[in-house]
Amino acid sequence: SSLTAVSVPACFDYALRLYQNRLRNIEVVRHWEQEVWVQADLVRLEQVLVNLIGNALQAMADTPSPRLTLSIETQEGQVRIGVTDTGPGIPHAHLSRIFEPFFTTKSPGSGLGLGLSISARIIKDLGGNIEADNLPGAGARFTITLPQAQRPE
Ligand code: ADP
Ligand code: MG
Repeated sequence: SSLTAVSVPACFDYALRLYQNRLRNIEVVRHWEQEVWVQADLVRLEQVLVNLIGNALQAMADTPSPRLTLSIETQEGQVRIGVTDTGPGIPHAHLSRIFEPFFTTKSPGSGLGLGLSISARIIKDLGGNIEADNLPGAGARFTITLPQAQRPE
C-alpha cells in the first residue's frame, strides 16, 4: 500500500458518486468546510467510506425520511470523519461485536459481515481508530479518527 496525502472530501465525493442512484431519495448533509488531508492509501480509504455509506443505506431501507450525514472535523492534528444515518441504530449487545469478522445481522447474500472488520483493519494500519455509537433519537454513527496530513505539494 502507498501512503500519500489523501483529500477526505474527495474520498467522500467518490463514494457518493458510486451510490448516486441509491442516494436519489436520500437527504445528504455534508458537514465540512475546507480541504482536509490525511496520510492514507487513497483506494483503501475510499473502500472504508464506501463500506460505511453502504451500511448506512442498507440500514435506512425502511426509514420514512432517510438522511445521511457526512462530516469532517479537525482538532489538534487529528481528523474526525463521521458517517451518520437515520436507521434503527445498532442494538447495544451488538456494539462490541460489529467489527468482528463475519458478524452480520443480514440475510445470506446481502451481507458477509466482513465490511467493518476490513475497514477497522485498514484504519488501524493507518494509525487511526474507528468506533460506532448510536444517536439519542435513532440511527447509527461511525467515527474514524486519523492523523491530519499537510497539504500535498
Ligand atoms: P455486513 O454489512 O455484511 O453485515 P459489516 O461488517 O459491514 O457486515 O457490518 C456488520 C453488522 O453491523 C451489520 O450486519 C449490522 O448488524 C451492523 N451495522 C453496520 N452498520 C450499521 C448501521 N449503519 N446501522 C445499523 N447496523 C449496522
Ligand atoms: Mg457492510
